[in-house]
Parts: sequence; C-alpha cells; structure tokens
Amino acid sequence: MAPSAKESTATRRGHLKAIEIIQSGQPVYRGSLIRYSRRCGSPRCKCAQGQLHQGWALSVSVKGKTQVVYIPDELRREVAAGLRRHEELSKLIERISKADAKKLRTRARRNKKR
Ligand SMILES: [Zn+2]
Repeated sequence: MAPSAKESTATRRGHLKAIEIIQSGQPVYRGSLIRYSRRCGSPRCKCAQGQLHQGWALSVSVKGKTQVVYIPDELRREVAAGLRRHEELSKLIERISKADAKKLRTRARRNKKR
C-alpha cells in the first residue's frame, strides 16, 4: 500500500472511531475525577468534629473557573468511562487534524506550482 493510502486508511479509521463514540450517545466528560474531604457546614454534624465527609467529584474548569459535581459512589465508574471517552475523542481529533493539515500542505504546494 502506498504511504498516502495507508495514511488515509488510518485517518478514516479515526473518523469512524470518533463517530462510534459520539453515536453511542454515552456520556463524555471533560475534567478529572477527584477524591474530596469536606465539611457540610452544619455545626451539629460529625464533620464539625473533624470526621469529614468523603467522596468522589468531577472537577472541570469552565472559562477559567473550577466547577465541581459531587458524585455518588455508584456513578464513579460511569464518570471515569465518560472521561476516557473525552480523552479518546481529543486524541482522535488531534490525529485527524494533523493528517488533514498535512494534506492541506501537499495540496497548497501542488497549487503553487501551477
Ligand atoms: Zn457534615
């Protein structure tokens, strides 16, 4: 297979994988899963005596501000999977755009020669 044909097969596979992720309709989460310890604010709660509430949260930066979504334990795996989908989509888009920029460079060079 010629290098360019091999390349476009790889790019095509990237497109299909990205479509597959999006088409599945499964959640895509940006950010990171963090373990938190916090006080709820109630002065009569055990946390006021130092027994902090602990759990998992999704931390995401939106326009420079950190937003936190507290997550019940039973949703932690689902959130982790959504974060992995986001990571994979980002990598795929990066790979696709690099390949497309390379193609553009080739086409621009070809047009200049005319
Ligand atoms: Zn508390």
